Amino acid sequence: MAHAHGYAVKDAQSPLVPFQFERREPGPHDVCIDILYCGICHSDLHQARDDWSNSLYPMVPGHEIVGRVTAVGAHVKKYKVGDLAGVGCMVDSCRHCSACAADLEQYCEEGATWTYNGTERNSDQLTFGGYSDHIVVEEHFVVKVPENLDLKAVAPLLCAGITTYSPLRYVKAGPGQKIGVIGLGGLGHMGVKFAKAMGAHVVMITTSPDKGKDAKRLGADEILVSRDPADMHKHANSFDFLLNTIPVGHDVNPYLGLLKLDGKMGMVGVLTPIDPVIGGNLIFGRKSLFGSGIGGMAETQEMLDFCGQHNIVADVEMVSIKDVNQAWHRMEKNDVRYRFVIDMATLG
Ligand code: NAP
Ligand code: ZN
Repeated sequence: MAHAHGYAVKDAQSPLVPFQFERREPGPHDVCIDILYCGICHSDLHQARDDWSNSLYPMVPGHEIVGRVTAVGAHVKKYKVGDLAGVGCMVDSCRHCSACAADLEQYCEEGATWTYNGTERNSDQLTFGGYSDHIVVEEHFVVKVPENLDLKAVAPLLCAGITTYSPLRYVKAGPGQKIGVIGLGGLGHMGVKFAKAMGAHVVMITTSPDKGKDAKRLGADEILVSRDPADMHKHANSFDFLLNTIPVGHDVNPYLGLLKLDGKMGMVGVLTPIDPVIGGNLIFGRKSLFGSGIGGMAETQEMLDFCGQHNIVADVEMVSIKDVNQAWHRMEKNDVRYRFVIDMATLG
């Protein structure tokens, strides 16, 4: 075992505090990565606070990881010492179920192994995430990072990026489509950038009118303030696809009214109950409501390559690890433009 250090929460009420722990030495198929940057996802806060009733402590959060390879196992083929590498939300899966066989490891029928708040396969050793100095991950769950992009702004692509890219690809986002992105936070701002780069007409749907100027800069063609009934009415029955990133339970019915015939809304934000869906809002217009979780490893690599080609990164605000509790507090208050990233050099 190798000594590691980072920040952890000890229970659902406590702040993040410095934490010493052990990681495995790299096995034959493992890559060891020195973590340079780690994004702060709203999921980190949800899990630290046990919002999803499945939290394991102590918890070292962080699943938007980029860094440099410092060691590789004897059978590792794709990576060598010195390469840039990324790690997202999962670090293992069963590799043989139908989901894994279809490169959709995030939907592994036996359950994917999450980067943190999980246990390693075949052991009850807790997994620890990216708010730490290094990580050891099986080669299949590591991705290559394009060299031309600003590394610190690449980190959020590993979760916020793939979580919005995957459903946009699933609905074949492209020219001629009107796409709405609901919620201009970490996920939403990536959704706007991707939908625009894929050629769609993009509408940012927000509760915060003051984010309007940013939304345009990020690539939105129009802004819709969801709290303004006249604005909602103006866009009724007009969207091909809505990407819903709202992090808490809410009423989806008004948003269903924005969809046109055969329109779809993809839910990526809320894991807990949503208000009752009125059946008629789906039936009249043959509308669909579906969910989507991150993306498989092949698609995560495709997304990073797409970002390399289109020069897409997240808009980030850098924070020192010492200020991480304050960053969480600001995220909770919807005060982030649009992703906090921890500079891991500040871990000391
Ligand atoms: P975030 O940065 O906090 O952004 C969420 C945005 O939603 C806010 O900026 C705000 O945008 C809007 N919002 C917040 N509270 C709202 C409310 N009560 N009603 C309406 N809109 C509200 O969060 P994030 O990191 O993007 O994560 C969003 C959610 O996705 C979290 O729940 C996270 O756990 C989840 N997630 C899911 C996956 C997956 O695989 N499906 C992956 C990563 C994260 P406006 O100010 O523009 O309204
Ligand atoms: Zn995340």
